[in-house]
Amino acid sequence: TARDLGAFPKPKRILLLVNPNGGVGKAKRISDSVVKPMLQHSGLTVNEQYTEYGRHAVDIAAKVDLDEVDSLVVVSGDGVLHEVVNGLLSRPDWDRARKTSIGIVPAGSGNAIAASLGIVSQLVATLTVVRGETSKLDIFSLSQLNRPRIYSMLSFSWGMMADADIESDNYRWLGPLRFDVAGFIRMIRLRRYPGKVYVLPPKHQQSHSTAKHQLTPPQSPSHKREPESRFQHLLDSNIKEPPKPWSVIPNMPFYSMLLLLNCPNVGETIFFTNTIRFNDGIMRLWYSAETRFWKILMPFIFDQQNGKMVERDLMKDLECGGILIVPGVEGEPDDPSTHKVTEPDWVTSPAAKAQNIYQKPGLFDVDGELMPTARTLIEVHPSLMNILVP
Ligand code: ADP
Ligand code: MG
Repeated sequence: TARDLGAFPKPKRILLLVNPNGGVGKAKRISDSVVKPMLQHSGLTVNEQYTEYGRHAVDIAAKVDLDEVDSLVVVSGDGVLHEVVNGLLSRPDWDRARKTSIGIVPAGSGNAIAASLGIVSQLVATLTVVRGETSKLDIFSLSQLNRPRIYSMLSFSWGMMADADIESDNYRWLGPLRFDVAGFIRMIRLRRYPGKVYVLPPKHQQSHSTAKHQLTPPQSPSHKREPESRFQHLLDSNIKEPPKPWSVIPNMPFYSMLLLLNCPNVGETIFFTNTIRFNDGIMRLWYSAETRFWKILMPFIFDQQNGKMVERDLMKDLECGGILIVPGVEGEPDDPSTHKVTEPDWVTSPAAKAQNIYQKPGLFDVDGELMPTARTLIEVHPSLMNILVP
């Protein structure tokens, strides 16, 4: 740091990204009444910018002059922070941009990252920015054929929870309660999601990429267009079974939910488990084929806050270094160029529909935002970014 070199520190320059629509529209008020004045009184240099349209924060982070900004701080929910991560990592100079610290002042309806970090209020969040302490953050990359890569700092989900998350957008006015309402509706109208999921053991991922990172002298990655991916070739749908050490999750013709987490909290109010570290280079995967209503409902009623969500036998718990998801039915793989995924008869038949067995392969949800349903490779990039922590 500047101080280590004997230089006099300059005030940190903060770019505040405020989503005027975040949460129930309270982000602007929070910024004006708490965040901006406190940061200014603390001697920081503050610039504020409102996001003017969906995904505006991607454009801002992709273009911001990194010589002029020390931290990008979001006043909204997980969605806008997700956009900042994606904007920074999409840049040609991503390897520099990734080191710019990011921060969150919880003012959206989905504030899982803030809750995970122990940022319990806007005040704590603002003090966190003043303090300037950061922690390394693992990032997941999500690759699909012929589409730009997506990056995630929080979660990927498919199945009941993804549907509830995305469909709850209609009840935005409810605030955080929107997830409970949509979740309950999805539980009583439960769907099944056909597909296959392959996993890579965590050691394999680590021995190759983390170790290499630490042992070999750092090479200038400026020529690399994006963070390294080792398994892009698996996106070729001609590959029926990825070779060892990948393995298929057995006995899974369909799922009711699948969740990949980088943080202990899924939402502000759902504390999943305390067994997660956000910079250990490991992905935590949970999945279930449970369809009995009461079996699914119980943990959501009794274990939302106690960190024991995964101790009930609702979901299988797995650590991994990579995941390949092939939605749809075996033998009739999805066609990523058209998004089409073939649906089996038992899913589309009138009888199946009457029983509310799902009709489509379901939505893919990354950090609370919708992404296309298609063959998807997810890899972990250990400690890729820096996030402000209390
Ligand atoms: P919440 O937690 O309330 O969902 P988010 O931070 O996740 O808050 O933001 C929700 C969405 O709002 C994001 O997808 C973002 O792209 C979008 N957004 C940001 N600014 C605007 C705007 N000015 N108008 C409409 N949508 C916006
Ligand atoms: Mg959101």
